[in-house]
Amino acid sequence: MPVSDYEVVIGLEVHCQLDTRTKMFSACGYEIGAPPNTRTDPYTWGLPGTLPVPNRAAVDYALRLAVALGCEIQPVSRWARKHYFYPDLPKGYQITQSDQPYALGGALEIPVDGGGSKRVHLQRIHLEEDAGKNTHDASDTHSLVDYNRAGAPLVEIVSLPELRSAAEAAAYMRELRTLVRYLGISQANMEEGTLRCDANVSLRPVGSEALGTRCEIKNLNSFKFLEAAILAEVRRQVDLLERGEVVVQSTLSYDPSRDRTKVMRSKEEAADYRYFPEPDMPPLQIDAAWIAEVRANLPELPWERYRRFLGLGLSDYDAGVLCAERELGDYFDQAFARARGIANEGDEPAPAAKPLCNWITQELLALLNAEGLSIASCPVSPEALAEIVDLISTQTISGRAAKAVLATVFEEGLPPVEIVERDGHRQVSDLGAIIAMVREVMDEHPAQLEQLLAGKDKVRGFFVGQVMRRSSGQANPQLVQQAIDHLLGERAQ
Ligand code: ADP
Ligand code: MG
Repeated sequence: MPVSDYEVVIGLEVHCQLDTRTKMFSACGYEIGAPPNTRTDPYTWGLPGTLPVPNRAAVDYALRLAVALGCEIQPVSRWARKHYFYPDLPKGYQITQSDQPYALGGALEIPVDGGGSKRVHLQRIHLEEDAGKNTHDASDTHSLVDYNRAGAPLVEIVSLPELRSAAEAAAYMRELRTLVRYLGISQANMEEGTLRCDANVSLRPVGSEALGTRCEIKNLNSFKFLEAAILAEVRRQVDLLERGEVVVQSTLSYDPSRDRTKVMRSKEEAADYRYFPEPDMPPLQIDAAWIAEVRANLPELPWERYRRFLGLGLSDYDAGVLCAERELGDYFDQAFARARGIANEGDEPAPAAKPLCNWITQELLALLNAEGLSIASCPVSPEALAEIVDLISTQTISGRAAKAVLATVFEEGLPPVEIVERDGHRQVSDLGAIIAMVREVMDEHPAQLEQLLAGKDKVRGFFVGQVMRRSSGQANPQLVQQAIDHLLGERAQ
């Protein structure tokens, strides 16, 4: 069967670290990037006599996520112990939620290639604690372990097998990342491991309803590797099936240097986690009042903002760019509010969203990128940007001058109007003055004028250029054209 006769089926298990001040089951502080083994306590070390206490903030963050995704929140959910023996886990077990997670169902809408979107349904979300971090490549003789991360709060978001390509899987991860950042519950940084995922991949003949045997690729820690690993795994499975072999359910790792997936263990060798209910904690109870409070305090969600931006007349693309990062959308909102404040009540047309969007996503982001800055630390306030765009629309400055003004505001931080005056960017829009300039230029260049009068429109550019030079670039180019027409008309008579 050719590759195109197989349908790719993917389900993702995404781990997202919650950005709380303390760990999941103890008051031990946690910070990403802290020196190794400086964020630990007796509970983290698994010392006898320590007992777990759930972190209310972590449950609150997890609830925000589940409410935003439309999950059914379970009034009672249970903690369970998942056992394994490894140096990153001092207790010898991880506390998680197995058969009774706090959230079931829900869905996330993702954009699909060629426009439109699709809803990817979720199986469940559960809360758990993270393990420490082992480093095996520091020496030939020993490994290192850092327990800072041990006990950090995590949510695991499990999708149904509804993703159909590597690109869809990456889009799903991107939407999740955007969402948790909007919600302010996680830094969701794949490089730092605060967002990571396992991808389950199977194939089936196109048209078939039954699911094929899946393989699970562990610990994908970048968008690039997520997509590459899925593509590599699809190739591996197609190869097997084409050779008449079967796919054996297994756990795999992805090797970026060879761009191949490698079987780590098959189902027969799978670890037996000996799950059992956590005896040291009562069930987690979440009442309706708590859910209502979380719901009432949700920020505007990315897809809500996206629809609102479409309503302002922005394109799918522009709205998508502005909404991908909460701070960028905030910046646009503040700039737009300022633009409305500058415009007079009832001005027609109302200040447009499009020019503001362009100045933000093109000029401003380019300046920020060049300096390696994020929009959150942008030296140009949204108000100043709106003022610059307004100066263009009132023809006080040209678009070209506006770029110079923006660059100067970016560097010096002065109000735009001050820079316009100080650096002489004000556009000359006095038709009389411009006619006088054009007249001078024509008098000085009789040969070119001769050609223009003879209908050689090419020399028009020459006159525009001369006038722009004479005015140090400040003449309004449209008025220069008008002035040329006016004088030609005079001479033709
Ligand atoms: P486990 O926790 O043992 O890995 P689950 O049943 O919880 O198993 O499934 C984990 C993930 O695997 C889910 O995201 C699910 O959508 C996905 N999945 C299940 N069956 C398949 C399949 N046949 N092909 C691709 N993904 C699958
Ligand atoms: Mg799994």
